[in-house]
Amino acid sequence: MAKIAINIATGSLQKDEIIVGIDLGTTNSLVAIIHPETKMPVALKEHNTSSLVPSVIYFDEQGNIEVGENAKSHLESHPERTIFSAKRLMGKSYEDVKNNQSFFSYKIINDNTDSLVKVQLENQFYSPVELSSLILKELKKRAEHILKTPVNKAVITVPAYFNDTQRQATRDAGKLAGLDVLRIINEPTAASLAYGIGHNNNQSSKHEIIAVYDLGGGTFDISILRLNDGIFEVLSTNGDTYLGGDDIDQLIVSHWCNKIGITTEQLSKDKSLNQTYRLKAETAKKYLSNASVFEDIVNNVPLVLTKDELEILIAPLIGKTIKCCELSLKDAGIKKTEITNIIMVGGSTRIPYIKHSVSDFFEKPVNDKINPDEVVALGAAIQADILAGNNKELLLLDVTPLSLGIETVGGLMDVLVPRNSKIPTTASRQYTTQVDGQSSMRIAVFQGERDMVKDNRKLANFNLSNIPAMPAGLPKVDIQFLINADGILTVTAKESRSGVFQQIEVKPQYGLTDAEVEQMLLDSITHAKDDIVLRALTEARTEGEQLLKTTEKFLEKNTASLTQEELLHTANAMQSLQMAITMEDKNLIHQKIEELNNISRPYAERVMDQAIGKAMTGKKI
Ligand code: AMP
Repeated sequence: MAKIAINIATGSLQKDEIIVGIDLGTTNSLVAIIHPETKMPVALKEHNTSSLVPSVIYFDEQGNIEVGENAKSHLESHPERTIFSAKRLMGKSYEDVKNNQSFFSYKIINDNTDSLVKVQLENQFYSPVELSSLILKELKKRAEHILKTPVNKAVITVPAYFNDTQRQATRDAGKLAGLDVLRIINEPTAASLAYGIGHNNNQSSKHEIIAVYDLGGGTFDISILRLNDGIFEVLSTNGDTYLGGDDIDQLIVSHWCNKIGITTEQLSKDKSLNQTYRLKAETAKKYLSNASVFEDIVNNVPLVLTKDELEILIAPLIGKTIKCCELSLKDAGIKKTEITNIIMVGGSTRIPYIKHSVSDFFEKPVNDKINPDEVVALGAAIQADILAGNNKELLLLDVTPLSLGIETVGGLMDVLVPRNSKIPTTASRQYTTQVDGQSSMRIAVFQGERDMVKDNRKLANFNLSNIPAMPAGLPKVDIQFLINADGILTVTAKESRSGVFQQIEVKPQYGLTDAEVEQMLLDSITHAKDDIVLRALTEARTEGEQLLKTTEKFLEKNTASLTQEELLHTANAMQSLQMAITMEDKNLIHQKIEELNNISRPYAERVMDQAIGKAMTGKKI
């Protein structure tokens, strides 16, 4: 196992290339590096600007894209063309987000499957990965402009509760933005690193239990971490994905409306006045972090807010966050007194009342010396520096130099163990069959960074046989990868209903030289864009084919329940989808999938029974 650094331009091994740390946030994102002279982490910013780049993307009618502060100004004027909070959609299906649909002002597609969501802007369909990659591209561009050097490598942070799919989606977004993502790390771990916990050979921090309280603009997270000899372990997470500074602003607006004697509904009829009040509320809130009274006049109406009033307003909301802290401790099996460090993250934790409430609850002072907006990115920069090998005191754990995964439908590579994962490690994922009565499944194990398995290195191939006959989608096949401390990979496949299982052992590094590993990494970067386009097209085709198959099956069983008109419209829509699948345009395929879904949804809802619903879901090998 080795840690490889390559120069993207020349393909040669390079030690001192810059690796940036990126906090890809729901509301704001930013980049940090270790300053080459001071050796301290710093957030990158142009003169007289903020280091924060709003995670907002605006698509104008001519097809131009703006990201950041400029895009934010379109949130009110062009809500349907301005994408915010794309992070909330990462690795999610429509089913996962449908209850929060009203939160998003742009169109999220319901394609009746459990595949990942897409956002529709007129005839274009964007995956959350593509949207996040636009933010990462902007960050990369800004960093290159400030540093005057190409930036090709990054460590990106994600919430501790992100699952495998969401982490992989974040990696893919980085790749699409032209970044080699050396590691994905947890935001609370990054914040701890920024406070010097877990590095600098800090003897006193060898064994710690850390609470990271993160209240941003739209989300609240509490994480309990354990640090043992340099390794962070997430003991528990809790929080509310729809609670943050924006809610505080809203409470202030309501308070002012009350005082003036109007309802918030009345105010919201005047979009521009509503916006002015919201912005004033945010200004008042920030101002009161360092003062006791805020006063202003808008359209001859005095707007006043005292610190005491603000505290009364937000008390219930902060009470909710404290309740989450309690639950998180309970889940971790930790007593308050065992917590050695409390770390404050997110702009909203600047509010003194919040600091006091958290400190009162944990009965300990909080760590709040580092800018709470920047602390996660600064920690990511520290992790990047460790990976670059610049932090000599730190023991570098063995990592997998290339990703390991299996072949899924359409010849796509499904990564189970991303490259640079610490070993020993284990990962597992569930798959299902593609055709009715399928009694065996071929499992092909590959190594490499490319999206199509044909471009990667095949390690092994085996069959899981004797799967009992069941309709497609019903068998549950768990595939587990286990890499031991010697780098030996054991792949196990087990069908959970019948218990049939099969296991093989491979040595991923066998016969592979450092130069070959390097070449494989280089190839993955030069082909990143084509690969991702091809993956999106293959996924769209698979989704289309799956939908055609389930629709056909549905029609076979239920023709009698459908009207002649429904049958005719369905046949036409199926034909157009079939045609689109033969072409090279993923947007056209998604459009035809949506059309067929819109036609079939009313009658499907009428007659679809549970069993068919189940048969339509699941990833197919
Ligand atoms: P983040 O998502 O971490 O960037 O946090 C952004 C949130 O922090 C927004 O709701 C801001 O209004 C809020 N915020 C920033 N500065 C302050 C401050 N001084 N006092 C209170 N809230 C703040």
